Amino acid sequence: SSTQESLEQEVMDKINNHPCYSEGAHQHYARIHVAVAPACNIQCNYCNRKFDCSNESRPGVTSNKLSPEDAVKKVLYVGGDIQQLSVVGIAGPGDALANPKKTFDTFRMLHEKAPDQKLCLSTNGLKLPDYVDEMIKYNVDHVTVTINSVDETGEIGAKIYPWVHWNHKKVFGAEGAKILLEQQLKGIKMLVENGILVKANSVLIPGVNDQELPNVAKKLKELGVFLHNIMPLLSKEEYGTYYGLNGQRSATDQEVMAAQEACGMDMKLMSHCRQCRADAVGLIGEDRGEEFTPDVFQDMTWEALE
Ligand code: SF4
Ligand code: SF4
Repeated sequence: SSTQESLEQEVMDKINNHPCYSEGAHQHYARIHVAVAPACNIQCNYCNRKFDCSNESRPGVTSNKLSPEDAVKKVLYVGGDIQQLSVVGIAGPGDALANPKKTFDTFRMLHEKAPDQKLCLSTNGLKLPDYVDEMIKYNVDHVTVTINSVDETGEIGAKIYPWVHWNHKKVFGAEGAKILLEQQLKGIKMLVENGILVKANSVLIPGVNDQELPNVAKKLKELGVFLHNIMPLLSKEEYGTYYGLNGQRSATDQEVMAAQEACGMDMKLMSHCRQCRADAVGLIGEDRGEEFTPDVFQDMTWEALE
């Protein structure tokens, strides 16, 4: 139908203007992540809370945590310096939606003070259905959900997530994993129905979900997720730090390629996400995060920044 076609055109336009999704846009558009979200509401076996959320971030680096106000100041300051700045994301260091007050205070202020910036966030999806309305309100452009299994029994999930925080208590094992999956699928569906672009990340954990990832890919396609990334579990060899409480080793390049192939992935699209840290700044592939520490913009007045 023509509605279908115009929707696809709209999605294509969004992709083409986005530094993370289009090779052509890489050099023309820059992005900034603001690290306003320290808490998390689930436990992933591959997470090391000392560092940024492994959902979207390179492990092994810690971000400067920012208040919403300082985050907005930082965006205005960096936008004055880097003309190509076009995307502002919240990607940790914990989960954007486990810190809803901070995340949406930031988005509300950005919506007012930096209306040209596209807004995005990444999440494990547990609280996604609760916040789709808020995202629509502030015109959030795209969302990244990390989803590592679609196994309805929760057995695979239980090996990845020891617990999720749900209704004020910890729910353990398969029961917790089932809640997480239900919420992820429900939330993704709601986002797609509301025209918000959804990208998914999966962490390839050798011996745990390698056989499961083609099922994940299939489900995501059915739901209308436009891009699915497979990221290797990065284990301790690389960073001198212990990742994976179960002691899984890292995925090899070959294993990642095999999984990507088994999932029928579009290599041209998916190779762009570089798993930037929660306070990344600049063009993709460059990281100027170190330059913009809070002391640079914190004491500036709004008048000076706007
Ligand atoms: Fe860690 Fe991110 Fe998992 Fe939370 S969602 S436990 S911050 S990897
Ligand atoms: Fe883009 Fe990936 Fe970096 Fe997010 S983490 S800004 S999607 S390259």
